[in-house]
This record gives sequence, C-alpha cells and structure tokens, in this order.
Amino acid sequence: MAMSTSREIQCPACGKEALLLREPRYEGFTRVGETLSCASCGHVFASEDEVPFKHRPKVEVFAESDRSKKVKVFAEGENKRICRYCAHYVVNPFMQWCGLHKKEVQATDTCPQFTPKPPEKKAAL
Ligand SMILES: [Zn+2]
Repeated sequence: MAMSTSREIQCPACGKEALLLREPRYEGFTRVGETLSCASCGHVFASEDEVPFKHRPKVEVFAESDRSKKVKVFAEGENKRICRYCAHYVVNPFMQWCGLHKKEVQATDTCPQFTPKPPEKKAAL
C-alpha cells in the first residue's frame, strides 16, 4: 500500500500474487513508455491491458445502510400523519369526515393540522 508506483497483480507466469514493477523505457534519451513486469518472476507484460491486476471490490457498506435507515424513518413518519390516524377523522356509513375542516376526506389524505388520535379510544355511538 505504501508503494504508489506498484500495484498488486495475479501473475499468470509464476502464479503468484505479486507486485507490478513499472520502469521507464527509453529510446536514446527519449522516454517512450514503461516496462511492466512481475516483481516476483520478472515476466514482462506487453502492455497495461495485459496486466492482470487484482480485483478490489468497492466498499459501500456504510453508504448503503445509511440510505435504507433514512428511507424507513421517512416512511414511518408519513404513515402516521394521514387522516386515518388523526383525532379529527370520523367514519360513518356514508363518508369519511374531517371534524376539524368539516369536509369529506380520504383515509390516506395528509393534513398540516394533523392531530394524533388518542390511543385506545373507541368511537362511542
Ligand atoms: Zn510472476
């Protein structure tokens, strides 16, 4: 990891996990490229495309769990703000009614004046 000019390869010539050596190649005094070779056995790769770099899986564990957590909290909050769970929500045989706005509503409507329904209080007839 400390060697920034080398990378880990799975060498097809010696079969080892080795480091890739990069050495500048010159023609006269002009640099024309790099010689890529296996640090273990010295096998030379013709080009970078031929180098069998070891695959490194990307680590995205944290990002993934953060995202699903956020979505879950959001969905829960939305669910509790619908008319069905509001103290002003009244159901009778003909319609669903909002006692606050005096209008017909749907159970899944949302409302800025949402008031949580008190728990375990059954509609008294
Ligand atoms: Zn090798």
